[in-house]
Amino acid sequence: MGSRSVAIVGGGFGGVGAAVMLRRAGYDDVTVFERGERVGGVWHHNTYPGAACDVASHLYEFSFAPNPRWSRRYAPQAEIQAYLEDIARSHGVLERVRTGTEVQGARWDAGRAKWVLQTSGGPHEADVLLTACGQLSTPSVPALAGLDTFAGPAFHTARWRHDVDLAGKRVAVIGTGCSAIQVVPAIQPIVQHVDVYQRSPGWTIPKGDFAYSPRAQRLFARFPALQRLDRAAIFAFMELGAAAMTRYRWLLRPFRAICARQITKAIDDPELRRKVTPTDEVGCKRLMLTDNWYPTLASPNVALVDDRIAEVTPHGIRTEDGREHQADVLVLATGFKTHSFVAPMEVVGSDGRTLAEEWATVARAYLGMSVPGFPNMFLLYGPNTNGGTGSVIYTIEAGMAHVLAALGELDRAGAQRIEVSRQAAEAFDRELRAALKGTVWHTGCTNWYVDENGNDPNQWPWVWSRYRRRTARIEPGTYALAP
Ligand code: NAP
Repeated sequence: MGSRSVAIVGGGFGGVGAAVMLRRAGYDDVTVFERGERVGGVWHHNTYPGAACDVASHLYEFSFAPNPRWSRRYAPQAEIQAYLEDIARSHGVLERVRTGTEVQGARWDAGRAKWVLQTSGGPHEADVLLTACGQLSTPSVPALAGLDTFAGPAFHTARWRHDVDLAGKRVAVIGTGCSAIQVVPAIQPIVQHVDVYQRSPGWTIPKGDFAYSPRAQRLFARFPALQRLDRAAIFAFMELGAAAMTRYRWLLRPFRAICARQITKAIDDPELRRKVTPTDEVGCKRLMLTDNWYPTLASPNVALVDDRIAEVTPHGIRTEDGREHQADVLVLATGFKTHSFVAPMEVVGSDGRTLAEEWATVARAYLGMSVPGFPNMFLLYGPNTNGGTGSVIYTIEAGMAHVLAALGELDRAGAQRIEVSRQAAEAFDRELRAALKGTVWHTGCTNWYVDENGNDPNQWPWVWSRYRRRTARIEPGTYALAP
């Protein structure tokens, strides 16, 4: 038990969580590769003003490491980053992380049953490969005409330029997704003016954020059952949301009423109300939690521009109606490349077949984790493991339960390789695609899940307890073991 070596690509919540869970299960030979200078993943890279989690803290934490001291119901970025670093340190994982080291490729050596990694720090071998690269790691920079001619600073929300002082500046923010709705309210009080460029509006719902009093924190520390109860309540509400977005869409009706009310409550101007009111279904784009987005849009120094962008000019943005909107700073809140998963890392499985070839049509994996032809490899937060609700940390823990079950099978059988059967993977894929068709994400809006061909490599079309149930064990007949 615990003799196998494991290489983990990515040092965010997935990679650190995996390493901790492996260590807790007795696997000591674990190496985490992280291309950034610190662990943290998205929480290391997304430091824009206002960055915070929109999943309540008591669910956005490891179940084995509850933190009674979150300052708020929804923790800010720096606290989440500190939490993850603390977990990595206290579980002896930090010294197993090779930061500043990019894994460029991984090749399965069938003869020796080893994964051979090419990294920027040299080669590395392991019995098992876990990828924990996230779905929101690579910023998407839109191909806007003239973008490179902009004279002032221009940067993506996930690469915030803290050296740029926004005080008194005219700022253009492109995008109105989850990042934009956090950053615009945070910068609005200090800038002279902000133009928000909206391509299509999304629904928002009240966040109900508040600070935890020291007394509440003491109570959570003293009575951990209280925190567990709160976690269970948050999870139950999220499951309701997941059910509403997938199988029981009629449940979305009350959500829509709450969302619509949030607009009319904060905005008096009928024109602005019209602009921000989506025509698509609630939940089709990711539902955004906020308490201050609409009041910010209604502020005198904020303008919502919904004319299409024609080009970026040296001093601003020209919209298709011919107007040039002046800007000193350009912020791209334009999201991430969400369909490429482990890329640009090249992964080569048995028979020299690459993961990119296997995924030529769409990225897919059995339970989002295992791909036929890629033995001893598991993807964490892989294809179709994202949700319209839920906590990625819950997903990662459920995924790791599956990895540990698979390693247990290897140990019990005294085998060297474990590989999902193509038949099982294809049967799962058919079941998944059929279920996806009925979900709200496929009702015609633009979102970061569905690609231009209608493929959806991101979403889990059921409730999250079903993911946990299905990943908890190895279904007989789904995996093949070999010496
Ligand atoms: P996003 O939801 O993909 O939003 C990107 C925005 O940019 C959209 O409004 C999009 O418009 C717009 N856009 C993209 N290309 C454009 C172009 N060429 N011209 C004009 N507009 C363009 O990205 P995000 O806001 O960074 O959020 C991504 C995900 O990260 C979220 O859904 C969430 O899962 C996660 N996130 C979480 C938190 C948190 O609190 N935990 C915070 C931030 C982000 P269209 O809608 O028309 O495509």
